[in-house]
Amino acid sequence: MSDRIAVIGAGQMGNGIAHVCAVAGHDVTLIDVNQGALDKAKATIEKNLDRQVKKGALEESAKTAALARITTATSMDAIANAAFVIEAATENVELKHKIFADIDRLAPAGAILATNTSSISITEIAGRVKRPEAVIGMHFMNPVPVMQLVEVIRGLATSDDTAARTVALAKGVGKTPVEVNDYPGFVANRILMPMINEAVYCVMEGVGTPAAIDEVMKLGMNHPMGPLTLADFIGLDTCLAILEVMHKGLGDPKYRPCPLLRKYVAQGWVGRKSGRGFYTY
Ligand code: NAD
Repeated sequence: MSDRIAVIGAGQMGNGIAHVCAVAGHDVTLIDVNQGALDKAKATIEKNLDRQVKKGALEESAKTAALARITTATSMDAIANAAFVIEAATENVELKHKIFADIDRLAPAGAILATNTSSISITEIAGRVKRPEAVIGMHFMNPVPVMQLVEVIRGLATSDDTAARTVALAKGVGKTPVEVNDYPGFVANRILMPMINEAVYCVMEGVGTPAAIDEVMKLGMNHPMGPLTLADFIGLDTCLAILEVMHKGLGDPKYRPCPLLRKYVAQGWVGRKSGRGFYTY
């Protein structure tokens, strides 16, 4: 088997994962149902590589080589020669089940089947495929080329070999893996999303403007960016989806998504990627 990595979903996370894998020397196939998303991803990767070259973090020749290692496809058939599959499509449980059924059918024996989900149960995804021992959570942070952490999440049936190979891949692409267990939201979003949700309640109740709330958290808590700026950056649709998973999966009303967050998503004001969220871009 080659060491090819297939990344499914070419949105903001997928393009970042493809970027760091290609820079680390892996051949990458980036797959999306939407050709426009693939074109945009390639342009974004090139722009972000250029930025690394300008900062002196990467040689021009390494940039050219990384770009040459990335191929794109609109069909899942392209995962047939991948040793490692990383799913980074939209945060929707039914969609993940559908994609994992295809991955199970098409990925070669021995491949690792990883998901970058922010909150959906790894065990639930693994429970529907024929090789649950190969399924694992590999939760990169946004923006992937910049952020150091990869949360590695074992499902109930994940094998030691799968976990070891995932930890090795994370280290190989220059990240620091931290192993945690499979509960809704894992660790990162279990702690982050209630804070973002509370910030949205503060907007809804008129406790402060988005700018005031962000300033309080930046200056008062020493956070590098405020929770509403961060929510816009993550995508308000993704924040809502994560809160829904935590609310349903943990059954505690403290995770109920703020009605104002639902309103923004219903309007299509989902943050930076749509040009408008709590701020205008
Ligand atoms: P995004 O909306 O930017 O991109 C999702 C991409 O998936 C789109 O390009 C879409 O066309 C594609 N897609 C949809 N259905 C598909 C299919 N059947 N096959 C292939 N591609 C398909 O979303 P994102 O922010 O990149 O999030 C992707 C995943 O990463 C989600 O599971 C999310 O929870 C997780 N995640 C997001 C963040 C973040 O900060 N945004 C951080 C960590 C993890």
